[in-house]
Amino acid sequence: MIEIARQTNGARFCALFFSAFVVMLNHQTSQSLFERAKRVIPGGVNSPVRAFKSVGGTPVFMRRGDGAYLYDVDGNRYIDYIGSWGPFILGHNHPKVVEAIEQTLRHVGTSFGAPTELEVEFAELITSLIPSMEMVRLVSSGTEATMSAIRVARGFTGREKIIKFEGCYHGHGDSFLIKAGSGALTLGVPDSPGVTKGTAQDTLNAVFNDIESVRKLVRENPNQIAAIIIEPIGGNMGVVPATQEFLQGLRALCDQEGIVLIFDEVMTGFRVALGGAQSLYGVSPDMTTIGKILGGGLPVGAYGGRRDIMSRVAPAGDIYQAGTLSGNPLAVSAGLATLKILRDENPYPDLEAKGKILEDGFRDNLRKLGLNLCLKRVGSMMCLFMTEQDVVDFKTATTSDVKKYAAYFHAMLERGIYLAPAQYEAMFFSIRHGERELEATINANRESLEAVFAKSAVL
Ligand SMILES: *Cc1c(COP(=O)(O)O)cnc(C)c1O
Repeated sequence: MIEIARQTNGARFCALFFSAFVVMLNHQTSQSLFERAKRVIPGGVNSPVRAFKSVGGTPVFMRRGDGAYLYDVDGNRYIDYIGSWGPFILGHNHPKVVEAIEQTLRHVGTSFGAPTELEVEFAELITSLIPSMEMVRLVSSGTEATMSAIRVARGFTGREKIIKFEGCYHGHGDSFLIKAGSGALTLGVPDSPGVTKGTAQDTLNAVFNDIESVRKLVRENPNQIAAIIIEPIGGNMGVVPATQEFLQGLRALCDQEGIVLIFDEVMTGFRVALGGAQSLYGVSPDMTTIGKILGGGLPVGAYGGRRDIMSRVAPAGDIYQAGTLSGNPLAVSAGLATLKILRDENPYPDLEAKGKILEDGFRDNLRKLGLNLCLKRVGSMMCLFMTEQDVVDFKTATTSDVKKYAAYFHAMLERGIYLAPAQYEAMFFSIRHGERELEATINANRESLEAVFAKSAVL
């Protein structure tokens, strides 16, 4: 596969084809839809990053997805590297997932608000794939999962404060929309109007990959920290893996201080490995949150962990959490079908091989262009940072030149490659991204970098 990807004749042909394609992209229907949308939906979108604010221009309205491709309302086709922000590791409309949804729709129903066998099977499968999750509760989004997890950690420990890391994203719950206070202040400050100071003071921000910054907060707040929550592979500041020693350090600190260690694997769960990032690192958290791939494209999240902790969740215990549509058969059948395919077909070695082709192709382009940009990848998540610094935390991530990223994003879009419209996002691909798609992407990457940095590749 690598050989084929490197065949330069094919590459040149594709480059010609795609540059011919560039001038032809038309976004008229998207533009008029965006105008309509802005009158009735704040910013014209139902989740902010979709609005292209950080890259400029008009968001592309999509009509249809199929495998590795998205088709927009103007008839343009894109190779999709967002995958609905993570769920589509199997590509759009995987036949088995579609069939599971159809069967449930036709023969079961969409929701009862009563328990079903499907939920039991789903919970059994989740707990078997991620053994640190001895018990699990289903919710309908990643945000709900993290909000619920910290409530449970607080109820369980009888403590109120939590520690999170600068640059990590845990959904839009009040407790997480907190940025680090200035200077030596350890108190957090609200990162959005509407989040109260009272809430902010219970969230402390530490530095990713810096165990000393965490120890300091724990020392300064003795017996007050309920939980430490972290993305073991940061996926919302680009792609920033934690070091092994750092996660082990957190584990030891939490054991010593009676703090609940929560791995937010909403993005990494079933993405970097079947057992999530925790299986790659061999570090077991006390609680885990999952979502995205878990729902196979429908809204599903979950939180779970140690039996003694989860036994405190109502109605088994006294910590309240509920949901009208939680565990509904439609969503569960999509998630169940997805996880079974991942378990039975083990696509991870293939995804790693594809990731290597993409990474090698990008690195080759960078080398030929004399660029020394930071590229990070774990399995099928990758990020090209517009900086020469090695990105290890939020501070180094933000040395990226976001204007360059915006130009790169548009250059790629015009070549039919749909990347996240913001620098600090992961690039995801699926089992349906084949040699042809990877090769086209590598060529588009070279052309786009040439255009953005006004350089020509030395072949
Ligand atoms: C996406 C994400 C969330 C939020 O999930 P939603 O389903 O968007 O609410 C939480 N944590 C992480 C790590 C995520 O990537």
